[in-house]
Amino acid sequence: MAFESLTQKLNDIFKKLRGKGKLSEADVKQAMKEVRLALLEADVNFKVVKDLISKITERAIGQEVMESLTPAQQVIKIVNEELTSLMGSTQSKVDFSKEITIIMLVGLQGSGKTTTAGKLGKLLSKNGKKPLLVAADIYRPAAITQLKIVGEKVGLPVFTMGQQDPVDISKASVDYAKKHNHDVVIIDTAGRLHVDDDLMNELVNISHAVDPSEILLVVDSMTGQDAVNVAEEFNNRLQLTGLILTKLDGDSRGGAALSVKAVTGCPIKYVGMGEKLDDLEIFHPERMASRILGMGDVLTLIEKATADFDLKKAQELEDKLKTQSFDLNDFKDQLSQVKKMGSLDQILNMIPGFSQQKLKGVEIDDKELSRVEAIINSMTLEERSNPSIINGSRRKRIAAGSGTAIQDVNRLLKQYAQTKKMIKQFAGSDKSRKRSKQKL
Ligand code: GDP
Repeated sequence: MAFESLTQKLNDIFKKLRGKGKLSEADVKQAMKEVRLALLEADVNFKVVKDLISKITERAIGQEVMESLTPAQQVIKIVNEELTSLMGSTQSKVDFSKEITIIMLVGLQGSGKTTTAGKLGKLLSKNGKKPLLVAADIYRPAAITQLKIVGEKVGLPVFTMGQQDPVDISKASVDYAKKHNHDVVIIDTAGRLHVDDDLMNELVNISHAVDPSEILLVVDSMTGQDAVNVAEEFNNRLQLTGLILTKLDGDSRGGAALSVKAVTGCPIKYVGMGEKLDDLEIFHPERMASRILGMGDVLTLIEKATADFDLKKAQELEDKLKTQSFDLNDFKDQLSQVKKMGSLDQILNMIPGFSQQKLKGVEIDDKELSRVEAIINSMTLEERSNPSIINGSRRKRIAAGSGTAIQDVNRLLKQYAQTKKMIKQFAGSDKSRKRSKQKL
């Protein structure tokens, strides 16, 4: 999970600091020594760590902190601010000023370029754009097929011209986009295992031919400082406008995310948070710093909720809760709404304080959600709307149909009964509150 080990180490350090009450200069220095080690272990660039620690220390042993009533809190606030500034301070937006926004995606093979082309297309089309995906990786025939599959999954057209010259393909794709009213062109360029001259020349030629608004380097964050080195090499040749860090979901250390902006000057614009085509997020330095410090990211969570939640469904649910007609169909609807927002792990990680709690061994099981859905899917409509008719033989049939055990079915029915009871109590207390208000 993203930043898991770094977050845990930082939290341990700050916990000790909080336990101290008033802080001496030596306390702060000791804590900073530990923060420095934690960052180095997270594979953050050595020079970046050095600069960061000296900035934090200078601010933290200032009067403001030492004399404050909550010095530890102040130190954490400073760390938060400096981490944010390290990653670029504010969100770095994509330039959509031209009539057609051409985005070249570049990067090494396996970095996640093709997947990211699909994710980015999907994200932009959710925001009202009309993207065209372009297959310009002609060296691996499988790459073209892969992009076509991705395009189909996200419902976007893919422009291909087989193995022709990538510069010609890119130019032709822009003409095609103009004719077919696309306002974004996402070019999936060729990748290599290592940076080489042929690849760079080809990318430079494409960029001269189409004059892209954005040249975004896709890098695998799990490769830590290697990702930073790759970014430097690409940037020297191509003048990148930004980076997309992929596989952050599997990067427990976070070294690339924390150093790449400081080392290359290129801002991170998006981050890949999973293999699914929905798992691309706009990068917000302040929110990322908050996540690294285990403070959650409520803003992204709210955005996900409002983007993915079906308001009509939410209203229907509210009505059902009021009339207490909440049945197993609603139970299932609710589950699928939550699932749309991402894996439980991802969601919970954005809740403040959760990462610390999770590390204490709370098990989060996405499989359980799928099991519950399978069980409800195996019920008849009548059973779903009137679960009290589900007797022993029905339970047996449902378990067999969903590939689960009778105990699983029993557990689900119990959970449903408890939820319903809770709703009843809630609705009841709501009514009595209203009554007592009227009395007053
Ligand atoms: P390309 O060679 O650069 O085009 O890379 P691909 O798009 O084929 O991706 C390589 C692998 O990385 C695939 O298995 C993807 O599913 C996976 N991948 C891409 N982005 C992410 C991400 O953000 N998180 C995770 N966990 N996997 C990713």
